[in-house]
Amino acid sequence: MPIEDLQQRNAEAWRQRVAGFAYGVDNLIDGQRRPALSGATFEVLNPASGRPHTQAPRSSAEDVDLAVQAARRAYRSGSWSRLAPRERMAVLYRFADLVEARTEALAMLDVLDMGKPISDMLTVDVPGTVLSFRFFAETIDKLEGAVTSTSPDALHYILRQPLGVVGLIVPWNYPLLMAAWKLAPALAMGNAVVLKPAEQSPSSAVLLAELFLEAGGPPGIFNVVQGLGAEAGAALALHMDVDKIGFTGSVEVGKQMFIYAGQSNMKRVTTECGGKSPQIILEDVADFDRAVSYAINGIYANQGEVCNAGSRILVQASIYERFIERFSAMANGLYVPGDPFDPATRMGSLVSFEQQKRVLGYIDKARAEGGRLVFGGDVPEALAHGAYINPALYADITPAMTLAREEVFGPVAAAIKVQDLDHALSIANDSIYGLAASVWTRDVDNALRFARDVEAGIVWVNCFDHGDMTQPWGGFKQSGNGRDRCLEALTQYSQTKSVWVHLGG
Ligand code: NAD
Repeated sequence: MPIEDLQQRNAEAWRQRVAGFAYGVDNLIDGQRRPALSGATFEVLNPASGRPHTQAPRSSAEDVDLAVQAARRAYRSGSWSRLAPRERMAVLYRFADLVEARTEALAMLDVLDMGKPISDMLTVDVPGTVLSFRFFAETIDKLEGAVTSTSPDALHYILRQPLGVVGLIVPWNYPLLMAAWKLAPALAMGNAVVLKPAEQSPSSAVLLAELFLEAGGPPGIFNVVQGLGAEAGAALALHMDVDKIGFTGSVEVGKQMFIYAGQSNMKRVTTECGGKSPQIILEDVADFDRAVSYAINGIYANQGEVCNAGSRILVQASIYERFIERFSAMANGLYVPGDPFDPATRMGSLVSFEQQKRVLGYIDKARAEGGRLVFGGDVPEALAHGAYINPALYADITPAMTLAREEVFGPVAAAIKVQDLDHALSIANDSIYGLAASVWTRDVDNALRFARDVEAGIVWVNCFDHGDMTQPWGGFKQSGNGRDRCLEALTQYSQTKSVWVHLGG
């Protein structure tokens, strides 16, 4: 069913559809669905209902090894890596079409796993996933090697080749999309892949891998191994025959990836980790309400479970109180937690009760440290069965407070008063993170100086969270060293080979 039709469906129709929805969560190795070799499983929680909705294989190092072996065989066979670029392109285009055609199932699976609103799946996650595969399909025959200028008795050329077997370890906040940002360039370059989804959100990955097969992708090129991070994830990152780990997740686990690489085969590692992104609003902002509206969406979209969430809102002192009032008024009724399968819902549940407890802990700590809770931050009584939380705004947060320093990964905004741009910049840069930042100002000098001096991989001027597939996505500092989405991503899933040919005897 086309996305436009799915967007018209009401809550009751979605509930009926979900009630009759049959699916299974497995590993997919060498083109076959499989349980874990041990038969072990783990429960997958539907955090909106508070009850488990399925079981997934709890894979061990042996399962990971099977997947890596299948990937290596498929890679070496050349069935994908040596396919003519146009043929690989055709498969990826068909894959994108099939993903689009299966929007309904993919969207339901991610909603069941992580409680995000179905409307977000239909407007952000699935279209973004389709676009990722189309974007990288387009690039396949556009990438060129090089011939360098050398002495006349030699021909020297540089080939760009795949890495081989790539392990992808991804988080739960955008289960499909975060996988797609890595799968698309890895597959486009001709690699074979083993994907380890987050244990909170295993369900859509196996359907995705099946659609790749249906599109004509060879078995063994796109494998999925489910399991816990410390078990299946660690086994993949420690595997001696994996050439690269593409990781998205927390800083703590991201750092672990480099340790695993050092302990095993010095595989390449790219990381996309957390953030504490500053949104800076200066007194000369052109459209105050527009800035407030972006600030609200920047922190509350996707329940605040967003790597680039604008969680530090730095507002110039002269407009600070007006901002707090306007933010409260405009946010009122906008992100009301509710049933994620109701298309009117803009805020679903958090991903788990553990995450809910963590976020509530940050809220308590902010109060204890002297922050002023303006609204929210409690559990909605009528939704106590699920992992819900009312979005919160804290004012009078100072740069030393925990809420200004640590990633909450929930719908908690921290407003900080600043004197001017320089003051804002010094606070913005006083962070271990450096993923994204924004500034709202009419002063072109201030805007350009901010863009130059802020320590962040992504900068927005007079907007927040705008962009498309051409925009490199990645951070400075401990937000990670990788770049997703853009052409640069292709270089991260390939390597150069230098060929020197002696001419003339
Ligand atoms: P996480 O680090 O706990 O888990 C991420 C993945 O790593 C999961 O698949 C998990 O199973 C696996 N893992 C956990 N422990 C492991 C271990 N010891 N060895 C190997 N693998 C292990 O992160 P999360 O809670 O799933 O996701 C939230 C984090 O992801 C946040 O910090 C968020 O900012 C970050 N994130 C970053 C981006 C980005 O583009 N920069 C995008 C989305 C999410």
